[in-house]
Amino acid sequence: MDMEFSYRTRTSDIEKIKGKQCDVLIVGGGITGAGVANILAANGLNVVLAEKGDFASGTSSGSSKLIHGGLRYLAQGEIMEVRSLLKERNYLTANTEIVKPMDFHILVDQYSWRKGTLRFGLYLYNLLSGKFSIPRFRENQGLYPESVEGYFVYSDSYTDDSLLVISNIVTAKMHGALCLNYVEAVEFVTRDSGSQAILLDHTTGERFMVQPEVIINAAGPWAGELSSKLDLKLEHGLKLSKGIHLVVPAEKIPVKNAIAFRTYIDKRQMFIIPRGEVVHIGTTDTFTSEPDDFEVTDEDIEYVVKSVAKLFPSLRKEDVITSFCGIRPLFGEGNDPGTVTRDFELRMKGNVLSILGGKITNYRTASRDAALKVSEMLGRAVKTKGLPIIEYKRPDMSLPERIEYEIYHECPVYTEDIMRRREAARIYTLDMGKSIEPVVREQALKAGMLKE
Ligand SMILES: Cc1cc2nc3c(=O)[nH]c(=O)nc-3n(C[C@H](O)[C@H](O)[C@H](O)COP(=O)(O)OP(=O)(O)OC[C@H]3O[C@@H](n4cnc5c(N)ncnc54)[C@H](O)[C@@H]3O)c2cc1C
Repeated sequence: MDMEFSYRTRTSDIEKIKGKQCDVLIVGGGITGAGVANILAANGLNVVLAEKGDFASGTSSGSSKLIHGGLRYLAQGEIMEVRSLLKERNYLTANTEIVKPMDFHILVDQYSWRKGTLRFGLYLYNLLSGKFSIPRFRENQGLYPESVEGYFVYSDSYTDDSLLVISNIVTAKMHGALCLNYVEAVEFVTRDSGSQAILLDHTTGERFMVQPEVIINAAGPWAGELSSKLDLKLEHGLKLSKGIHLVVPAEKIPVKNAIAFRTYIDKRQMFIIPRGEVVHIGTTDTFTSEPDDFEVTDEDIEYVVKSVAKLFPSLRKEDVITSFCGIRPLFGEGNDPGTVTRDFELRMKGNVLSILGGKITNYRTASRDAALKVSEMLGRAVKTKGLPIIEYKRPDMSLPERIEYEIYHECPVYTEDIMRRREAARIYTLDMGKSIEPVVREQALKAGMLKE
């Protein structure tokens, strides 16, 4: 890719847009904002995306990183939702290199659904994904502790959630969108001449104004906060639920496949997901009132470790290398976070479109539906069929070359943006990326990103 997208073009892009009009201002650079920016820019609209932190620094880097239909949603009767998620899973697995299939063992024991229920559920799951296959039960045969009777095998997919976001952002940029990280939407003013949004560049402390025709609220768990700034009231409100994952060494849980099981503590479904040198285990699902509540408490750690240690008894709290956390933006009824729908909802009021809820798996569906609403709002034709497409791919390179490439093509502003979201080495390696820190630092210095 010839186009530069770096901390340098970020500064010149801010200069270009200061005080100017644009068709659409998207607030939020998670998967939702990135997907819709990709579609709208591909349609030639004049798009500005403002993200208050780094791209994917919110929930979209704190997920379980599964691209899945959500077997457990079948038990909640959400058949059409599961069907639509599976369709997206199939598309992304077939067409996106960073989405890969993975085998899961779903365990049968006294805490799981009954064997017959699971067999029927998996049969339906396969059928909804367009595959006719009767799930076969396999005896435990020493793979798991004796309390586990056996397991069924099924397939879903996994991804690197931050990279999925960044790939959509870079594609949007390739189509002309101005995607600005570390730029927060802090105030909105409505005048006879239209809306003005006041944006704050966190790297300089400078405020500037843009005049969007349409504003998209894609602020995930911060959507409620943003809607107050926009003077909108979200009926039924947004519910927030915190989910944590722990990162443990692969040698502690030596499995090739992922595992889905229900914890003996409260029968919630949990996952064990091998990611190379490490394994991710989680997650929790607890209501919180704060979109910034990223604290992983001792109680959270204990709950996850105890649940997994029932299957892998040598696992101890001390084995935990690190953790990550995300806040689910949920929009729906229910007093138990596990039962609130994971579907998305679009709300239109004046020139503001809010995209609420949703999953990473269905980001393309949410983006297409949102793009059609924008088309209505602007009175301009927008093509959505087959979109969004990811057109950006990092070439295969040595580590120093790759870091340099990321600096000039994926717009990290700080070295930690590389460590956490371009390489994501903090959560995918045993040493939390410490061994690559010198290379990242050297490349950042060379590129003038870091001052000595
Ligand atoms: C623990 C957990 C596990 C999950 N697992 C899965 C899974 O396996 N598969 C799946 O499909 N989904 C999963 N999800 C759901 C999925 O992660 C979320 O639905 C999705 O990431 C939400 O994306 P988003 O873009 O709406 O929100 P975010 O990623 O949070 O993006 C919103 C962005 O808006 C920015 N922002 C907020 N206010 C402003 C402002 N005023 N100005 C500028 N920027 C602003 C924030 O900084 C943030 O980056 C999981 C969620 C959690 C919490």
